[in-house]
Amino acid sequence: MKQYLKTIFALAMSATMVFAAVGCSSQEPTSEPATDEQQEASGGTLTMATNAEFPPYEFYDAGEVVGIDVEIAGAIAETMGKTLEVEDMAFDSIIPALSAGKADIGAAGMTVTEDRKASVDFTDTYVKASQVIIIKADNTEIAGPDDVEGKTIGVQLGTTGDIYASDVTDNVERYNKGFEAVQALAQGKIDAVIIDDQVAKALAADNADVKVLDTPFTEEEYAIAVKKGNTELVEQINAALTELKENGKLQEIVDKYITAE
Ligand code: GLN
Repeated sequence: MKQYLKTIFALAMSATMVFAAVGCSSQEPTSEPATDEQQEASGGTLTMATNAEFPPYEFYDAGEVVGIDVEIAGAIAETMGKTLEVEDMAFDSIIPALSAGKADIGAAGMTVTEDRKASVDFTDTYVKASQVIIIKADNTEIAGPDDVEGKTIGVQLGTTGDIYASDVTDNVERYNKGFEAVQALAQGKIDAVIIDDQVAKALAADNADVKVLDTPFTEEEYAIAVKKGNTELVEQINAALTELKENGKLQEIVDKYITAE
């Protein structure tokens, strides 16, 4: 079990409890901030809507939202000469917030789907991910995706895990946080959880009663979402992403939070 995952998750959990009441955090990008002139020239802040219940992509550490998406968005904001501001909200509020103009970007380990493309525009993808199955450590019945049909499956509300679970069973239990789904699993209330691979690892690393199955349920890719029709912003972010991919910075950020097996 990886110590760093335990640590970040423990921090995330304690900070979540303290800051749940606040529900919103604002912060500077972790990389070099833009100069005053740059900010003036480009008009200030880039607001990122996210759901900070998703380690290692976004979670609370000492009262601040940190993680892979926060750092990538910070680096993008920096290339645009803007200051990043993070707004923590329910996952299924992110797309409405973009549509209403309350946030500029949705960076939340968000999977590109055809349905979502009807409501928002996506940038280029920046991470390959998958949905995986978490079961109780002593479960001998479920060994892979074929075995969850008809089972009681816990998911995070409004996620692709929710969509895929609904395809294979009528018994889907929806939670606001992946953490709550894993707790319900450990308590024997549900048979399995379907959630994103790295998040599953982070959650399972802290709970000896559960384990993650190796075979993925689906493969997917994450991208940043923006308000439908804001082509200019998509182009600016894509240019920044290309630069971050080419100069190795993106991989550096990912490697900081995810160590290779
Ligand atoms: N990747 C999943 C989705 O896009 C889950 C994202 C999340 O819960 N932050 O639906």
